[in-house]
Amino acid sequence: MTEVITVREATMTYPGGVRALDRVSLSVGQGELLAIVGPSGSGKSTLLNIMGTLDRPTGGDVIVEGQNVADLPDRELSALRGRCLGFVFQQFHLTDGLTAAENVATGLLYAGVRKRHRRRLAEEALARVGLAHRTGHLPQQLSGGERQRVAIARALVNEPALVLADEPTGALDTANGAAALALLRALNEEGTTIAIITHDTDIAAQLPRRVRMRDGRLVEDTALTESSP
Ligand code: ADP
Repeated sequence: MTEVITVREATMTYPGGVRALDRVSLSVGQGELLAIVGPSGSGKSTLLNIMGTLDRPTGGDVIVEGQNVADLPDRELSALRGRCLGFVFQQFHLTDGLTAAENVATGLLYAGVRKRHRRRLAEEALARVGLAHRTGHLPQQLSGGERQRVAIARALVNEPALVLADEPTGALDTANGAAALALLRALNEEGTTIAIITHDTDIAAQLPRRVRMRDGRLVEDTALTESSP
């Protein structure tokens, strides 16, 4: 299996001495759908930040599409991030004054795509998440579930190697949360590699692979403990 990301013995010690990650190792292969699950404070966000190349670990290595993050200056790292990674956040993080299509198109700003082409790709991505009829709406004209769909379209629009979703259902009611999860599963079936960070064990239980964090350590990875079907 082609690996899209490998985290090797990653440690993160914050100033003041808090060790948020302790020698965590994890590989994600192309086409996988996994949950990174654990209680609050277990190190999930810290792991997400280093997998997303938003932070560099204080020890160990992060390799994205064959490139060791430690070897890249900040500018090249941002370019790698823009090209290879997509992000979905609990609170959607859409820009208020921009339409759904314009918000999605911001996912292509660093990909060197011309404006007209950006617009078409954004509309296609919105169609993939079931929002072809909402391209001209502003975020405040959309429901929470629709806003998260726009955010998912923005994460997908540059066809990233990996989508990192941080508590993507956390701000949604049960029905919309289930719909967002179903959408992520459907996108994975179409080939997108997705890691979902969650404290919710019910959500984790629905995903084919679970990586469990506790006190900064990876304490279970079902890819290692369960044989593949
Ligand atoms: P989770 O996402 O599972 O809730 P976090 O990765 O946010 O866990 O936090 C793991 C530990 O690291 C916690 O003890 C938290 O207080 C600490 N921590 C997180 N971010 C920082 C930071 N920027 N500075 C200092 N400590 C931090």
